[in-house]
Amino acid sequence: MLSSKLLRFRDPQLAAIWEKVRHGERLSKDDGLALYATHDVIGLGRMANEVSRAKSGDSVYFVLNQKFEPTNICVLSCKFCDFAVKKGAPEAYEQSIEEMLSMLNPNIREVHITMGLHPDWEWQYYVDMVRRIKENFPLIDVKAFTAVEIDFFAKKFKKTHEEVLSELKAVGLKTMPGGGAEVFSERVRKLIFNQKIGAKTWFEVHRKAHRLGIQSNVTMLYGHVETIEERIEHMMKVRDVQDETGGFLTFIPLAFQPGDTGIKTRNNFTSAIDDLKTIAISRLMLDNVPHIKAYWVMLTAEVAAVALNFGADDMDGTVGYERIAHDAGATSPMQLQKEKIISIIHEAGKIPVERDVWYNPLHIYTAEGTTVVSKMPYLNSVPFYAEFEPSSGDVKVAPLVPHVFGEFAKEGKVDAGPMSLMDYAEQQDEFDMLDYGVAVNGKAYSVLLYSHYEWSKLSGKRIGITGETSTSVNLLRVLLEKKYGVKDVKFERLHLTSSQNDYTHFDAVLLIGDEALRRHKLGGLGTFLNVYDLAEEWHAWKKMPFVFAVWAVRKTVAGDHREAIVEALEHSLAFTKGKEVELGRDHAKRLGMTREELGTYISAFTYTLGSAEKEAIDTFLGEVYNIVTM
Ligand code: SF4
Repeated sequence: MLSSKLLRFRDPQLAAIWEKVRHGERLSKDDGLALYATHDVIGLGRMANEVSRAKSGDSVYFVLNQKFEPTNICVLSCKFCDFAVKKGAPEAYEQSIEEMLSMLNPNIREVHITMGLHPDWEWQYYVDMVRRIKENFPLIDVKAFTAVEIDFFAKKFKKTHEEVLSELKAVGLKTMPGGGAEVFSERVRKLIFNQKIGAKTWFEVHRKAHRLGIQSNVTMLYGHVETIEERIEHMMKVRDVQDETGGFLTFIPLAFQPGDTGIKTRNNFTSAIDDLKTIAISRLMLDNVPHIKAYWVMLTAEVAAVALNFGADDMDGTVGYERIAHDAGATSPMQLQKEKIISIIHEAGKIPVERDVWYNPLHIYTAEGTTVVSKMPYLNSVPFYAEFEPSSGDVKVAPLVPHVFGEFAKEGKVDAGPMSLMDYAEQQDEFDMLDYGVAVNGKAYSVLLYSHYEWSKLSGKRIGITGETSTSVNLLRVLLEKKYGVKDVKFERLHLTSSQNDYTHFDAVLLIGDEALRRHKLGGLGTFLNVYDLAEEWHAWKKMPFVFAVWAVRKTVAGDHREAIVEALEHSLAFTKGKEVELGRDHAKRLGMTREELGTYISAFTYTLGSAEKEAIDTFLGEVYNIVTM
């Protein structure tokens, strides 16, 4: 993050830390300790909120989910655990797969499964559990089994971690929860969970999962016997592994619920201030983890709502059924309905975004009187948003890939932003075009067709196409049909989450944006030998620029909101001019790009649309409609 924003603090130490944060410098252990020590809680929250907004805009995510703990019988006896019992105990229970299937609500998007380490269940039972859920409810994604469970399966069934994970992935496991991490400290482990795996094995399992394309969460159980220093070290260990794999989606601080565990804590339940500080410090320390969750089941809905202005951008979900925290005395209602979550998020001044397990937005719930601006989450869009601060608090920002923006715009949920050119063409009766957009005059570097064949030999072939935008897809169609005379191509939409795509059965694949840049840096895509830059192809053919996106504002947006949007956009473009490389540095680093590569990349783009770009728009749309009507 790099921002010119100056915040005021009562604690001078926070001012020094904010300088580091806004210059994109990573925080040290001492910084973390100073953040915990501060009494300027509001200042801390404002910093974390700024960082969260730079990542997620005003969006707060939630998922319609249901939790299952199919058994509480466990071979271990962790001291802090109020959930587990031994086989034969009066409270012991075991659920059959049929029972689980009968309890599943077909309208949810995620089922979250964790449980005790059962002494007798067979491996096939776990495999069947995932497989049958997926077979019966194809739209529900399975997030299941902590690293503790995966390691238990590996040992019990004499398999490697990779074998366990691959077999579960093959039948439908999509992501893993982040439980079992507790606190990554040997001292704490020996005190309260000495039979359970430590940090080394926990991270080993998650590293392997990430390499297999199974992303995961990571938790931190705090408020028991750990020290503040151990909390910071925990966060730093997560940060190191995330640098290696990039596979963690969310960090979840879990406030310890003492229940009947007998564990002596400093203050019984954690205080709201401790909870809010921990959320904020997690956001500030974990610069490379996309999301921070306010886990309302343990925090209470009231504290979770405040946490949304202290760096959290996820509210977890509807949590249809939850047993572990309640057995330990959590006071939150068992069922916090979707409407309740939406109203908490609105009250916090944020935008509720319903998501899938990978944080792809499914629905957006705009509050009355709010104007939502889409934030294109690509490296080439940094100049639009680096200083985009609309003067009206009712103008909110939500990160959306172009295709999703287009769909939400059709539903009337999103009102402005850099719209994919094809979406604008389709909705131009509803939207006004501004003189800004994303255009190139030659190579785009991030709109690439990877192909086993040369252009002329692609007739009748299968091409996997990005699900992120329809403009590049239409550019591909125009090039195939009009420039190269190629017919009868079979297009198939790719999954929005790249780890879910298998490219091997395609003859060619079209990638755009950050994913195209990332793949290019990794040396290409699988065994595809030919790589074509579509904007370069267009330029060589038509001798004109190509316009990927145009800034558009819904005609019905109130005058003061429209003014605020245009002013913020023009301010951001003016502020970033000449500083694009510095501003895009962190983003480019995540894609593995060098400073020079970033310089070459970003200088390829034009953000103001002049007569050449407008002529190029007409020419391109003419070609597209000519294909459609042929
Ligand atoms: S925390 Fe997990 S592994 Fe430990 S006793 Fe409870 S259910 Fe078993």
